[in-house]
Amino acid sequence: MLGEEMRFTLSKTGLMAGISFSRIGDLKRRAGIGLLCAGVLQASVSYGDAELKDKPYRYSDAHLHALDFFQQGDPISELVDVMDKGRVGDAMISGASLMKKWHENEPKRPRYYAGDNADLYWYSATDNYLAEELKKLPEKDRRRLHPFLSGINPTDKNAVTHLEKMMELYPGMWKGVGEVLVRHDDLTMMASNEPPRANSEAMDRIYRFAGKYDLPVLLHNNITSKRERNPLYLEELSDTLNRHPKVKFIWAHAGTSKTLERYQGEMDFLLPSLKKLLEEHDNVYLDLSWSVLKPYMLDKDDKPVKAWLELIEKYPTRFVLGSDVLGRFDKVDDNLQEFDGFLDALSSDTAQKVARENFLALLPESLPSKGAVAER
Ligand SMILES: [Zn+2]
Repeated sequence: MLGEEMRFTLSKTGLMAGISFSRIGDLKRRAGIGLLCAGVLQASVSYGDAELKDKPYRYSDAHLHALDFFQQGDPISELVDVMDKGRVGDAMISGASLMKKWHENEPKRPRYYAGDNADLYWYSATDNYLAEELKKLPEKDRRRLHPFLSGINPTDKNAVTHLEKMMELYPGMWKGVGEVLVRHDDLTMMASNEPPRANSEAMDRIYRFAGKYDLPVLLHNNITSKRERNPLYLEELSDTLNRHPKVKFIWAHAGTSKTLERYQGEMDFLLPSLKKLLEEHDNVYLDLSWSVLKPYMLDKDDKPVKAWLELIEKYPTRFVLGSDVLGRFDKVDDNLQEFDGFLDALSSDTAQKVARENFLALLPESLPSKGAVAER
């Protein structure tokens, strides 16, 4: 890859400014590739100076589904176009672990999982669909997409055999596990088996698999149920973190969901729970996608909330952004740019980490794309 150049068009500023990044080769990402690449752009920038931030931001998307709950999705080449337009250098990419049934008793084909009473079932082929689509991409695009395995039933102690099979069929492809759905209010209750939980024996096997290959796990585990105004399911997560200290867990939406918000409004126990969790476990990372920015990180006037700024400054490497799109890619750039106002209020160094670097640092070191993304 030496000598190859990448070009970004900074359309947001109205400037057609082409910035070239010369490739540095096999860089140690964990040593802080963001700082290395930032060095290309902002060698003389002092961190914390809002005026001199590396803007417009460049992002990594840590939570993206190429397929929806009917296992349908737009061509992945369209995702790459949106990523270029939106300055998204890299993205996690997964299928969807559940398939919604068009049940015999339902008169109309459902358009969303909650559209009727029919259940959903765990769908392993989602990983094959994703892998086959990725294989069609040119190498320069494929190495920016980091596929996670998700086609497993989290209550099945045999689920790990599917994961091992995928590693065998597509060697070098997989960079993580997830999004694994446990405690996802209606969605996991509508799954055709019993609702899964994070600290089950079946999930332990999946975490051991993740540990074996150094894969991060993106886990959806609502902090509570629709009615209980306390962190009812947090213990299941913290028990998991204790039992698998070597595995890196990305907690999807930091335990929130739109359904929880609908039923409970703003959960006042969320922030204290997150503070405690981050303090007690160094293997948990918080995905800020979907239902976290509002109403938690921004107040009613869209101003960044001080307590959230302080929390992220205290743990600057432990937060990632995500679009959480589901098979349609046109909102990826908008979803990530929504965070700009919040990022502006962080120190320059922290903003860069959250927007871009933290997700890259979670990816396994041993897989081929290491270094390939270093200069984006
Ligand atoms: Zn998701």
